[in-house]
Amino acid sequence: MFDINNILRKNIKNLVPYSSARDEFKGEASVYLDANENAFGSPLDQQYNRYPDPLQYAVKKRLSEIKGVPVRNIFLGNGSDEAIDVLFRSFCNPGIDNVILVPPTYGMYQVSANINDIETRNIMLTADYQLNLEGIAEAIDERTKMIFICSPNNPTGNSINRADIETLLVNFNGIVVIDEAYINFSRQKTFIQELTEYANLIVLQTLSKAWGLAGLRLGMAFASEEIVAVMNKVKPPYNINDATQKLVLEALQQVDQVNNWIKQTLTERDQLVLNLKKFDFVLDIYPSDANFILVKTTDANGIYNHLVSQGIIVRNRSKVELCEGCLRITVGTPNENSILINALKNLHN
Ligand SMILES: *Cc1c(COP(=O)(O)O)cnc(C)c1O
Repeated sequence: MFDINNILRKNIKNLVPYSSARDEFKGEASVYLDANENAFGSPLDQQYNRYPDPLQYAVKKRLSEIKGVPVRNIFLGNGSDEAIDVLFRSFCNPGIDNVILVPPTYGMYQVSANINDIETRNIMLTADYQLNLEGIAEAIDERTKMIFICSPNNPTGNSINRADIETLLVNFNGIVVIDEAYINFSRQKTFIQELTEYANLIVLQTLSKAWGLAGLRLGMAFASEEIVAVMNKVKPPYNINDATQKLVLEALQQVDQVNNWIKQTLTERDQLVLNLKKFDFVLDIYPSDANFILVKTTDANGIYNHLVSQGIIVRNRSKVELCEGCLRITVGTPNENSILINALKNLHN
C-alpha cells in the first residue's frame, strides 16, 4: 500500500516552511506595512509593488473549473520543470534513493535527477515505444521513489498504453508521475480524473504547449491533497510571479481559441505526414498524439543541416537511442509547414 510517510524525506517531513507576510495575515486591510514592499508603487503602468499570492488561489480556482479537479489537488510551478525539481527535493534523498526513467523521453527528468544527485535506473522503451514492464519491475527496489512516464511521449509522439500505466499505479508503492504536457493533442484520456483512485498518482500538465504560454512559465501538478501540501511546503514562497498570475487568468478565458488551435494543429499534422511520406528519404513517420512528429530518415544530419541553411530549425534526435535517423518536427502554421515541405523538395538540387 502506498503511504506518503514511507517515501517522504525525513528533513521535509520535519521542515518548518517559510512563513511569508502573506501567510501570516490573510484577508483585506487598508494599510499594508508588513512585507517591506515599496508603498509608493512601481515604475510601470501595471502595479507590481506587492508580492503575489503564494498559493495562486484565483488561477487555481479557474483551472479547477476547466479541469474538473478541486483546488486542493492542484500545485502550480514555474513551468513543469519546477514541479519536477520540487518532486525530487521532496521525496528523494541525494546519494541514496533512485527513480525509474523510461527513455527515449523528456530530458529534464534525467537532468533534474542529476542536479539532485539521485540515481536513475533507465529502462528503455520497447521497439514500439511502450513500457517494458518486466524490466521496470526488476529495477524497482526499496529505494525507488518515483517512476516518470511521459504520455504522449516526447520525442516519440505516441501515447503509452493506459493498462500498463495502471499496472504500475496499482503495484508500485512509490509515486507514478505521468507527464501530460501534450494531452490536449491526444486521442487518449487524461489521468487527472483518476486522482481519487490512486494515492500515488501525480499528473503534470503545462500551459507551455497547446495554451501558447511557454514564455509565462506555468506548470501544473495534479495530485492528492497530501502530496500537494508537501510540494507547497518545498517550493519557493512566490514561485509564480504576479504578472504571470494576472496574464494566465486572462488567457484562461480563451478556451475556444485554444481549442481551435488544437483542431488546426491536428489537421496540419495529418497534412504534414501525407506530404512527408512522399519523400524517398523518409523511412517512417511514427504515429503521433502530440503537436510534433518523429520522422525516421535516411540521413538525419544532412537533412537537418540543409534545413538550417534555409533558416528552418527542427530537432535532430538521431543520436538518441531508439531514435536513430530521426528528426522531431513541431507542427507549425500552414505557411510554416509549406515552407518546410518546399525546402525539403530542394534537398537534392
Ligand atoms: C515541453 C514539455 C514540458 C513543458 O515544460 P514547462 O516547464 O512547463 O515549459 C514538460 N514535459 C514535457 C514532456 C515537455 O515536452
